[in-house]
Amino acid sequence: MTTHPGIVLVFGDITDQDADAVVNAANSSLLGGGGVDGAIHRKGGPEILAECRALRAGHYGKGLATGQAVATTAGRLAARWVIHTVGPVYQASSSDPSLLASCYRESLKVADELGARTVAFPAISTGAYGWPMADAARIAVEAVRDAITSVEEVRFVLFDEEAYRTFAQRIRSS
Ligand code: ADP
Repeated sequence: MTTHPGIVLVFGDITDQDADAVVNAANSSLLGGGGVDGAIHRKGGPEILAECRALRAGHYGKGLATGQAVATTAGRLAARWVIHTVGPVYQASSSDPSLLASCYRESLKVADELGARTVAFPAISTGAYGWPMADAARIAVEAVRDAITSVEEVRFVLFDEEAYRTFAQRIRSS
């Protein structure tokens, strides 16, 4: 069935999620980094990086553009797939919220292509990329709420209490 997905909030680590797909807050190189990216590759093992390298050797020679998404398998993670997406770097005067919304929409499109029914997202762009949590939560919740998809459950996995509270508040007030 294609409809809007249900939203669930989890206080925890994205690498522990037993979802069909987990989303990686990757960078355009697809070759690993810190934060969520580092945690996924550490726990998922070398298979994920090998697939990312193969993507770079093929259709993604220049890397993955901001706001786009692409899947690999999930190595040793409990999930079946990792969907890599590249969030925009926050710049106070000129940040484009549509690029951040695009990360959620494009990841859900990839999830539909895979047949994933449960998808776990981190708070994309709110770590190294500096997007303020409240604004990022609003963009994330709206993008997911409005998406037309066969994904039944979207799980926002928040890594600290402040992020969890901010997302919870946003869901209550929208
Ligand atoms: P970005 O580069 O897109 O900002 P980061 O990985 O630096 O991505 O951070 C994105 C968000 O994910 C931050 O709020 C950070 O606290 C959180 N985070 C970091 N590690 C994990 C993890 N293992 N599981 C879930 N969220 C995490």
